[in-house]
Amino acid sequence: MDTQTNDDGNENELIELAKSKPDGISNQDLKNHMPLVPMADLTIIINKLLKNGVLELFKTKENNLLYKYKDPSKRTTAKGADNEEKIVYKIIEEAGNKGIWIRDIRFKSNLNMTQLNKVLKSLETKKIIKAVKSVSASKKKVYMLFDLEPDNSVTGGAWYQDQDFESEFVDVLNQQCHRFLVQRLEDATKQGGGPLLVRNRAYASATDVHKFISDLGISKVSLSVADIESILYTVVLDNNAERIANPNGTFLYKATNKFLPHPGLVKTTCGICLIADRCANTGSINPQACTYLTEWLDSK
Ligand code: SF4
Repeated sequence: MDTQTNDDGNENELIELAKSKPDGISNQDLKNHMPLVPMADLTIIINKLLKNGVLELFKTKENNLLYKYKDPSKRTTAKGADNEEKIVYKIIEEAGNKGIWIRDIRFKSNLNMTQLNKVLKSLETKKIIKAVKSVSASKKKVYMLFDLEPDNSVTGGAWYQDQDFESEFVDVLNQQCHRFLVQRLEDATKQGGGPLLVRNRAYASATDVHKFISDLGISKVSLSVADIESILYTVVLDNNAERIANPNGTFLYKATNKFLPHPGLVKTTCGICLIADRCANTGSINPQACTYLTEWLDSK
């Protein structure tokens, strides 16, 4: 990990800590929560956040210092805050967690590109807004308030990492979901009790599978039941599972046995021949004289 990434990580951790303690954090809190970061480094981060208005400094009655997280909206409405920043902040705030493209901010704010870039840079530095890469178009960034979790339509959800579709991750999840359903089917078969009972026991809900996947701990990102539901649908499309609808609108899933492979004969002309019942080793209709069979063999 490079130094810059490390610094950003420490800075974000400190901000999250400050957000979680509205009454303020002390130097002792910082030492307790971030014991591996030297106090000198923490002081540099604190000074930077104070300068950018992300934190405010308070003194307790005992004369101890407390750092409080300052609400982003207050940072732009504070006296002396730049008018252009307030306008841009309002436009970005209205866009919510889907964000807004720079061209649209420019159109709505009537600022020229140089002014707008300056304002955006300033708001980003103050951790009031952030730029998020959109999965829908490479090189396209959208802006949203710093504290917002981007919408799935921007990030692509759990299946995207830095705009790249994580096909291997999806494959692994597909296999593990299928494995769970197969295991469930085998367990149900072992318990016996008639085909209907076995069948009913073999069904699992997306919540069951979600718990199994969570317990496996194979995902770095937090997956929702809806995420697992979409993976289970890929298992169904692969013909490895079937699903039935519950009256409450959810689905139940059960592993299926793959169809038996076609016997070789079906793939030959004899497999679909309308006069196969009259074909024999003797007589006029026979394999040696059959043009259909000869042509099929020649094509192979
Ligand atoms: S050999 Fe020719 S006639 Fe005989 S069953 Fe096959 S396709 Fe039909």
